[in-house]
Amino acid sequence: AMLETGWNFDNSYARLPQVFFTSFTPDAVRSPGLIILNTPLATELGLNADALQSKYGVAELAGNKIPEGAAPLAQAYAGHQFGNFNMLGDGRALLLGEQITPDGERFDIQFKGSGRTPYSRGGDGRAGLGQMLREYIISEAMHALDIPTTRSLAVVTTGESVLRETELQGAILTRVAASHIRVGTFQYAANFGSIEEVRELADYTIKRHYPEVDADDNRYLSFLREVIKRQASLIAKWQLVGFIHGVMNTDNMTISGETIDYGPCAFMDNYDPATVFSSIDRQGRYAYGNQPYIGGWNLARFAETLLPLLHDDQNEAIKIATEAIGEFNKFYHENWYAGMREKLGIFNAEEANEKLIEDLLNMMQKHSADYTNTFRSLTLDKLEDTALFNSEEFKMWNELWQARLSRQQESKEDSQQLMRNSNPAIIPRNHRVEEALEAAVERGDYSVMEKLLEVLSKPFAHTQEQTDFCTVPTEPNESYRTYCGT
Ligand code: AMP
Ligand code: MG
Ligand code: MG
Repeated sequence: AMLETGWNFDNSYARLPQVFFTSFTPDAVRSPGLIILNTPLATELGLNADALQSKYGVAELAGNKIPEGAAPLAQAYAGHQFGNFNMLGDGRALLLGEQITPDGERFDIQFKGSGRTPYSRGGDGRAGLGQMLREYIISEAMHALDIPTTRSLAVVTTGESVLRETELQGAILTRVAASHIRVGTFQYAANFGSIEEVRELADYTIKRHYPEVDADDNRYLSFLREVIKRQASLIAKWQLVGFIHGVMNTDNMTISGETIDYGPCAFMDNYDPATVFSSIDRQGRYAYGNQPYIGGWNLARFAETLLPLLHDDQNEAIKIATEAIGEFNKFYHENWYAGMREKLGIFNAEEANEKLIEDLLNMMQKHSADYTNTFRSLTLDKLEDTALFNSEEFKMWNELWQARLSRQQESKEDSQQLMRNSNPAIIPRNHRVEEALEAAVERGDYSVMEKLLEVLSKPFAHTQEQTDFCTVPTEPNESYRTYCGT
């Protein structure tokens, strides 16, 4: 008998007003082939991993067989791309449906790279294998780093080629998300719909992601403030691990507070706030050090869409929204300082912490110190022979830090444990990701990627075997470039 894959769909988004989506069945692809399946995630979702690996399951993961209960649709959204407002929508993605897990949780199941949709504009709706595996690797690494993110369930090849600068193997990623509602979804409603449609979208989103504000007097203000808090917390987490999103357009910012859209993202090696990897970000709008500012900017665009719901009087509404946005910086800094403090093994907040943190970062920048490895060395109390650790200013800083640590009640061991839990040894280093993708895409050898995924799944383990994955390339990485949409 055929194994059941275990889909259990309930499609609440499809019950929103018609303007928010277009129902759509993808074209079948020529020859689906399973490249990778996330077995633990499949199990969490209530899916049968064996069935998903069967011919029937792979046909489902390629969009060739639509599972019972699914209601495929392309979502409409707009967004500011590098500051310019555009109508967008799922141009190369498709929401298959919402899976209800055995625990009663709801997750969007989305295909990325599944072909053209009514929102494709000039694009072909397709994706290359390398880019989809890159999203798989980095999103799963982010999850292991305890950072809210969309997940990756599977990558299949289509047996069709995708034409870019070179011919690529076509692939489809199955992405799993709390939802795909974006700042850009609200911008779409506010710009192209009615106030009633914005209200319906807000009510829907509150019910789905912020049920705790449902009964508040001004529920839309509470909603706005909670979204601001979640994004402040998320972006602080990015900064703390050196993650550079690369394309923080408003359509790539979720209302749920999950990281989404792994296009040109990358992790920083040596600490420098000006770090940019994206080939198209020539002005550094989305540079590492600019991410908190852009977060606030995007949330201001979100707040604008809610103005008619915040107050009947427009001036009052603007006043309320401005106050809420003004809190983003405060929330962000609270989260960031708390995280940095933990990275240095300090248990309690104290004003003097801030100078300690800033002095260390300034020295790291001056001596081009690797961000992740510096904190790892401090954690393991193994100071290598580096320009930073050899400098006189670091030795002075280290004395102040030790003095700070001895001023707290907690033991040295507790402090080191806090640091182990706060400083990853393992991040998806650019050269390691490239090496895994090259083996997979050029040679059909998936073992390098599988080994990398295994190491990335335990970033805080600090084991001896991981040491190989902590090394920085001997050649400086400054010319490393990432690309959108290949
Ligand atoms: P992104 O930069 O990935 O956030 O994409 C921005 C917009 O371009 C979204 O509306 C995408 O759906 C769309 N898009 C990206 N690549 C393609 C493609 N190959 N075909 C059609 N639309 C695309
Ligand atoms: Mg996007
Ligand atoms: Mg993208």
